[in-house]
Amino acid sequence: MLVSHILKSKGSEGVVTVQPGLSVAEAAEVLSQRKIGALVISRDGKTMGGIISERDIVREIGRRGPGCLNDTVDSIMTARVVTCGRADQTDAVLQKMTDGRFRHIPVVDGGQLVGLISIGDVVKARLSELSMEKDALEGMIKGY
Ligand code: AMP
Repeated sequence: MLVSHILKSKGSEGVVTVQPGLSVAEAAEVLSQRKIGALVISRDGKTMGGIISERDIVREIGRRGPGCLNDTVDSIMTARVVTCGRADQTDAVLQKMTDGRFRHIPVVDGGQLVGLISIGDVVKARLSELSMEKDALEGMIKGY
């Protein structure tokens, strides 16, 4: 299965991006309101500046206390973002996520942000693929 299939199944939700100068507290508010786990930091909504996930916020609060909520997101974001392309195989993307120990990966096409998939999206797609394969194999065995 390709990344483009997952993007299609997610519909046209787009990617939630925020400005680098947003405070960590405001970023937490956006994560909570949108019920998502990560935000892409981007000045223009199309080019990647970094990524901040709920883990970064929790880690920073644990390390420095609630004072970090007044800092800007670019001060705690991950700047070296691992990305994937629409034509990548989802198994390869899952491997990247497992190796890098992160659960979100932005999809980039021609240097522009076109989507973001989570490990949950990949697992859901894989489960549905496995279920279809199982049905097909059962059909073959039973002679449907
Ligand atoms: P997550 O598992 O996505 O909540 O992220 C765990 C850590 O990896 C956090 O420090 C994130 O900023 C970072 N991270 C998340 N996604 C990526 C990515 N695609 N590339 C690099 N780092 C990431």
